[in-house]
Amino acid sequence: MTAKIELIPLRCIRCETPVPAEGEEIAWVCSQCGQGLLLDERQGLESLDIQYSQKIPPGERGQPYWVTRGRVNMSREVHQSWQGTRQREADQLWGQKRQFVIPAFTISLDELLHLSTFLFTNPPELIDGPVTPFEAVTLSPRDLSSLIEYIILAVEAGRSDDIKSISISVEVETPSLWVLPNFRKFI
Ligand SMILES: [Zn+2]
Repeated sequence: MTAKIELIPLRCIRCETPVPAEGEEIAWVCSQCGQGLLLDERQGLESLDIQYSQKIPPGERGQPYWVTRGRVNMSREVHQSWQGTRQREADQLWGQKRQFVIPAFTISLDELLHLSTFLFTNPPELIDGPVTPFEAVTLSPRDLSSLIEYIILAVEAGRSDDIKSISISVEVETPSLWVLPNFRKFI
């Protein structure tokens, strides 16, 4: 079977300026009108709201992150001796929606999980600042829930209460794109 690939030039949804879509990139800022654009594999180009952190040092390129909140449903089974306290800690942590900050730029899976777990326990300040150039966005928002489940698992594995079994599902809100300073030095 041969797959037929059709190349359709992408144009800004507001001003029709061609978008220089290359490689793995899936989001852009229109060079003409500043419109944020996200390429969805099913819907085509959609409007994307992009926010820029005030914390990016002047002259530096920012890094794009998906920021979302998720409701976590978890059932965990632990060895009897640990039952009380650790279970209460887990219930408290996941009893409300939590914020997740996931790298949207190209990064190894290992680094992505480390960085996301770091930013879960050390949430960055999200304060609006000036528009800043940023690295290419290559991670589709469609991949977020499975990555977030992984991060929750990493957080729970750190609780050291000898988990026998755990099952996790997460309902994720529509993410927004934040351009943040470089956090890679922390991992
Ligand atoms: Zn435009």
